[in-house]
Amino acid sequence: AAAAGPAEWNGVGELSDGHRVKVYGNVGSPADAQAAADAGAEGVGLFRTEFCYLDAPAEPSVEEQRKAYAAVLSPFRGKPVIVRTLDAGADKPLAFLSPEDEPNPALGVRGLRIAFDRPEVLDRQLRAIAGAAEDSGAEVSVMAPMVGTVEEAAWFAERVRAAGIARAGVMIEIPAAAVLAREILGVVDFVSVGTNDLAQYTFAADRQLGAVAKLNDPWQPGLLRLLKLIGDAAEATGKPAGVCGEAAADPRLALVLAGLGLTSLSMNAPAIRAVGASLSTVSRKQAREIAEAALATVDPVSARKAVADALS
Ligand code: PEP
Ligand code: MG
Repeated sequence: AAAAGPAEWNGVGELSDGHRVKVYGNVGSPADAQAAADAGAEGVGLFRTEFCYLDAPAEPSVEEQRKAYAAVLSPFRGKPVIVRTLDAGADKPLAFLSPEDEPNPALGVRGLRIAFDRPEVLDRQLRAIAGAAEDSGAEVSVMAPMVGTVEEAAWFAERVRAAGIARAGVMIEIPAAAVLAREILGVVDFVSVGTNDLAQYTFAADRQLGAVAKLNDPWQPGLLRLLKLIGDAAEATGKPAGVCGEAAADPRLALVLAGLGLTSLSMNAPAIRAVGASLSTVSRKQAREIAEAALATVDPVSARKAVADALS
């Protein structure tokens, strides 16, 4: 059994045997970025760029975007930062991008899908991100939201590289992308799992609707088994696969994710220290056993109990 966890975290995301599981911050503003840096984030695993423009009536210019992004990235000079391209639509509509009269916006033209019709908006954003990387000195990677196929991932990676940005990745938040994680990792440098949307689409349960919240529990074994496919893909390809949804902010679920083979966890600033401290209490072998115990269950209550038992 694992030792009881220390309350302190040394600021390096690693298991007790030194196996690295990086601990990153989720940010959407300069204040968030400062809070993440102050909490000890080793980098940024998700910069939600659409948060900068929720009230914008028109597309901001490349120069405006460059400045806004550099202001968020500046606390992370020399550190890895993953910038997500605009994830407009559904719960985060942008006036200048989101289609108006879709019957089901969560299933509509959102995230990267908008860029297929309007690639020039994506290309302008990529130019701004490349500029902000220069201005801030952060080690910038870029990823796309709402990717469903290998073809979409390859299309995005090509545009990122054409913009002079070295590392391109995609989010895995559509079940089909989880199933093909290995093939997707064949055409990009990394993936990052958005468990909030991956749960929503796996259970066909609106993430904003309290009445179906039980289905969107990140401890649902149906979700954990999809996450295992992604961890296996990371191990098979040797490429990074992080988690940047709410699942990563739960110190106990973090152990399961580490055991499944996920390589980094990204979360809001208040969770950073507790997750970092939790990771340091188990070895790689113990994390694998904890993950197996959770995977063997068929409901979230049993999954939580199996992990509690494995830790006691
Ligand atoms: C997610 O879907 O889990 C995610 C991290 O992205 P967002 O919450 O911004 O949709
Ligand atoms: Mg999402």
